[in-house]
Amino acid sequence: MATIFTRIVNGEIPSYKIAETEDYYAFLDINPLAKGHTLVIPKKEIDYIFNVDDDLLAGMLPFAKKVGRAIEAVVPCKRIGVTVIGLEVPHTHIHLIPINSIYDMDFKQPKLQLPAEEFEKLAADIREAYAKQ
Ligand code: AMP
Repeated sequence: MATIFTRIVNGEIPSYKIAETEDYYAFLDINPLAKGHTLVIPKKEIDYIFNVDDDLLAGMLPFAKKVGRAIEAVVPCKRIGVTVIGLEVPHTHIHLIPINSIYDMDFKQPKLQLPAEEFEKLAADIREAYAKQ
C-alpha cells in the first residue's frame, strides 16, 4: 500500500504544498513543532533514507536548502534545524524546522495547533519566497 506521503504527492490527500521538482516534494508538517515546519521528501517511495540511491539522495539537500531559505524568509528564526527521524511515516523525509534554541528541535514538545487559514497563509508566503529565489 502506498504511504501517506505518496498519496500526498499523487494529490489523493491534500497538503500545504511548498514546492516540488521532478524528484522531490515539500509540504508543511501537519503537526508542527514551529510555524513553517516543513517536510522534504523524494517522490519515490523509499522508507529509510540510507536506502535512497546516491544520486537521488545527493539532490535532496540542495532542494531542502532552497526550501529552507524560503522558510527563513517568512518565519523569523535563528536557523532552520534539519533532522531525520522517520519512525512514524515509512517514506524518507527531512524535517526543516525554524529554531531559536536547541529546545525547538525537541520532538517530545507539544505540537502547535494551527487553524487551516494559518497553514494556508504560511504555505502561500513560503511558496512566494521560494519562487523569488
Ligand atoms: P517521523 O516519521 O517520526 O519523522 O514523523 C512523521 C512526520 O510526518 C510527523 O511530524 C507528522 O506530523 C508528519 N505527518 C504525518 N502525516 C502528515 C500529513 N498528512 N501531512 C503533513 N505531515 C504529516
